[in-house]
Amino acid sequence: MITVRVPAKVNVQLGVGGLRADGFHDLANVFFAVGLFDEVTATPGEGVTLSCTGPDAASVPLDDSNLAARAARLLAAHHGLADPGVHLHIAKAIPVAGGMAGGSADGAAALVACDALWGLDTPFDTLLELAAELGSDVPFALLGGVALGRGRGEILDALPVAGAFHWVFAVAEGGLSTPAVFRECDRLREEAGTGSSEADVPTPDADPALLAALAAGDPVALAAALTNDLQAAALSLRPSLADTLHAGTEAGAIGALVSGSGPTCAFLAKDAESATAIAAALTASGTCRTAHATHGPVPGAEVSAPRP
Ligand code: ATP
Repeated sequence: MITVRVPAKVNVQLGVGGLRADGFHDLANVFFAVGLFDEVTATPGEGVTLSCTGPDAASVPLDDSNLAARAARLLAAHHGLADPGVHLHIAKAIPVAGGMAGGSADGAAALVACDALWGLDTPFDTLLELAAELGSDVPFALLGGVALGRGRGEILDALPVAGAFHWVFAVAEGGLSTPAVFRECDRLREEAGTGSSEADVPTPDADPALLAALAAGDPVALAAALTNDLQAAALSLRPSLADTLHAGTEAGAIGALVSGSGPTCAFLAKDAESATAIAAALTASGTCRTAHATHGPVPGAEVSAPRP
């Protein structure tokens, strides 16, 4: 039995370029891995089967569309295993359709878990390539830490970071569809008259002030540099998120933004004590389902020690 722990992500910068002819957007995406984890446990089985536990388990598909199942099959096909056998159990703590790349995290974890269970010893670079085939956010869940993602987000460069940052995540009731949020972003750009195509929107680039804040371990500077080009679209689809962002800021957060495509809201705190207080205030505010205080960056998907 192999258990892999894999983190959620927040995008500390999410710059969204214009709509490309292939339907994707060019992104300048600074991924930051945080201490909110799913665990994927692989045990020998027949075929590829799945189970899931956790507060959002009912929303997780247990068929071949699940990224963990797709990852297992992709790894098996890469190694020419005709008849792969594994049962994957997902202990899900990352909110589903929450803008924290939980499905991608499970895909990355399944790659690592099946690789170990089947004794394949796949080189890390090959795992990264397989991860990119599964989805734009999957390679980062393998890598962890902080990284700049380009293209659709799948071309990654690890970034230097000093120390730890303290975060609070306010989990919303229900999810938001990532493609729907991108479509709303395009629609808002059209409505504003700026246009939404590649020709209309400048190619986004990493913000030097944000990179300097990360490298210096400076939470106040990072808070000032947080940006998410999808935030307006997420707020347009879910206006109540403005109340959540306001509640966290009132409770002392030094920075607040929607995480990725939302609806999870992310808050930067000045220290661990403040993060705990902000999480308690957010939970009490009634503007979210629950709130978690945590820290980051943390490593990507890794085999965890067996439980006693
Ligand atoms: P991202 O931040 O990468 O855009 P997200 O965090 O908003 O994604 P996910 O939790 O990854 O969203 O789920 C998006 C959809 O993917 C779900 O609604 C579900 O149908 C599907 N899905 C496939 N595999 C999984 C999985 N292992 N866990 C959760 N959802 C999954």
